[in-house]
Amino acid sequence: MLKQVAQGVLIHESEFLQSNAVVVLAGAGALLIDAGITGSEMTAIADDLRERGHPVVAGFSTHPHWDHLLWHPNFGAAPRYGTARCAASVREQQSDPDWQAREVEELPPEIADDVPLDLLGRIAGLPPETAQIPWDGPRVRILEHQAHAPGHAALLIEERGVLVAGDMLSDVLIPMLDLHAGDPIEDYLEALQLFEGVAGEVAVLVPGHGSIGGADQLRARIDQDRAYVQTLRDARVVSDPRIGPPARDGWEWVADVHEGQLQGLAQRS
Ligand SMILES: [Zn+2]
Repeated sequence: MLKQVAQGVLIHESEFLQSNAVVVLAGAGALLIDAGITGSEMTAIADDLRERGHPVVAGFSTHPHWDHLLWHPNFGAAPRYGTARCAASVREQQSDPDWQAREVEELPPEIADDVPLDLLGRIAGLPPETAQIPWDGPRVRILEHQAHAPGHAALLIEERGVLVAGDMLSDVLIPMLDLHAGDPIEDYLEALQLFEGVAGEVAVLVPGHGSIGGADQLRARIDQDRAYVQTLRDARVVSDPRIGPPARDGWEWVADVHEGQLQGLAQRS
């Protein structure tokens, strides 16, 4: 069920958008990053970890979008973290008394019945500039940047050479800008530069959605995403295999996201 991608680092890929939940093993526990999507998947992850003798001792959400904020009672009461900006964004979303009903509307109907929302987003914000996740395990460096969502963080599991990228550097999704940010394009380019700066330390790339890659894929995806964002900025015609044509089965909507970003940016200027 859990698949090893580096020593002591395991992932579970969901059928929903190829979402990757990531587990980092320590002596007697596990850190769980972006815990999973459906209740059945999360139950299976919890069972697998219990059988391995590594109960969840900490959690982390890379950013404040529902598919990265879920949790299951079977993981227990471990502390769950995110960046301060991420936690603030969740608080804002949940200050609306109808937030659960609004989340339900966003869920894909085919899985909506099996997505438990009760524990969604119960994270503690780490103080700004926190350098690593506070837990008793391999050092996990926090690479916060302003792209895709407020307080988005990638994580570098230093001893294992694994970069957990959150919703960046995907081979199936185009860069999705945070159109509410001050400067979505420049922010995104800066984030890609941040990844370039650590590329020499990375052997395995785990995106929030899509395929696991090696060091070569990390560089290729940085280049591909930069090309996409620059083309968007310059309002040139985009040619990107993730948008198509030909559209991939089930991913036709990515082209709509692209159109929406073009329009959103045009309205800003
Ligand atoms: Zn996502």
